[in-house]
Amino acid sequence: MFKNYHFTSPERFMRYVQIDTQSDPQSDTHPSTEKQKDLSFLLANELQQMGVADVHTDEFGYVYATIPSNTGKQVPVLCFCSHVDTAPDCSGTHVKPILHKNYNGGDIVLPADSSQVLKLHDHPNLRQHIGYDIITASGDTLLGADDKAGVAIIMDMAHYFITHPELKHGTIKILFTPDEEVGRGTAKLNIEKLAANYCYTLDGGEAGSLEDETFSADAVSIIIHGSIVHPGYAKNRLVNAIKIAGEIVDALPKDRLSPETTEGREGFIHPVRIEGSAEQASIDFLIRSFSEDGLQENTKELRNLAETILQSYPKAFLEFVVKEQYRNMKEMLEKHPHVVRYAEEAIRRAGLTVKKESIRGGTDGSRLSFMGLPCPNLFTGMQAIHSKLEWIGIKTMQKAVETLVHLSMIWEERSERHLS
Ligand SMILES: [Zn+2]
Repeated sequence: MFKNYHFTSPERFMRYVQIDTQSDPQSDTHPSTEKQKDLSFLLANELQQMGVADVHTDEFGYVYATIPSNTGKQVPVLCFCSHVDTAPDCSGTHVKPILHKNYNGGDIVLPADSSQVLKLHDHPNLRQHIGYDIITASGDTLLGADDKAGVAIIMDMAHYFITHPELKHGTIKILFTPDEEVGRGTAKLNIEKLAANYCYTLDGGEAGSLEDETFSADAVSIIIHGSIVHPGYAKNRLVNAIKIAGEIVDALPKDRLSPETTEGREGFIHPVRIEGSAEQASIDFLIRSFSEDGLQENTKELRNLAETILQSYPKAFLEFVVKEQYRNMKEMLEKHPHVVRYAEEAIRRAGLTVKKESIRGGTDGSRLSFMGLPCPNLFTGMQAIHSKLEWIGIKTMQKAVETLVHLSMIWEERSERHLS
């Protein structure tokens, strides 16, 4: 099916990564950085030129577009989604992508910083790309494959369908979001405007990987109120909130329930910020688990631990504030098992082995799933993300395009009901 097709995703990818779209967690605006719109506008233009219908961007930096159905069947509306922003962890300014033709398995020293060396030993997935082309940055920035690979793949899929009208599919919505990396990718999303039934994010890693499960996540703030008097006359009267905060942190489990001691399906309690004075101190925590029960248990353990410590300080008190962050998408996907099943089939049709994975984090898909759009995450090929050694194999990007084309066609094949 793809024999004589010239994949446009690698060339698109090389262009898109050169546009700085870093998001900013400190900003309160939507989008968090205005420059993300530079890519959004470019994508909207390219979609329009391609002949995709109904293309528009909004003031928040979202791009919406539609590839109209070309079948007589009534097929659920699919959405393919990726994010235009890159991670704040690493510079995204003046990204200079380098195409390494016919990778030979040797070390790649990145030219702008010779301490940045991509080695097969540290990145075993490179082995699958020996003899094929890979792309890296130049050593002083990230590459931005997360998630411009996803963007380029979706654009190529659109290009493929537009140039192959004989292939049957239902209505396909294209969605590009800002600010995923700062957790606000769906904050200003107009879900009515999108009008899709099911969604797939293109924001995953190695070839064939399919993520249908994320953490469930809450944030907890513990605010400790001490009792303050002049320190010269404080005997038996002063209670120092900073010291209580220190005790709470010290009492956290040390050999379990922390990010640094857990993996796989284990959750954790993770202090991320501490701030305060002798009078009042606060600690922020991330609470994570794959199940709702686990999440509640971890929260309860933290609360018990803090309250036990407070018992030694009758003059002090604490506030324990829980904020919901996101929930495991699996809960929603299990109600629509064909969403994942069709994706598995599409990956196999593209000639790959399915690797089902759980994300020890959240995605826009977790939120979308709970907004009524069940949304697993598909591979793009991105590797070593959020770092200067970020790289991607072109072969995998092309397989992702094939997977999306197969997936759209599978949904059409399985839809029986004809429009009258
Ligand atoms: Zn991403």
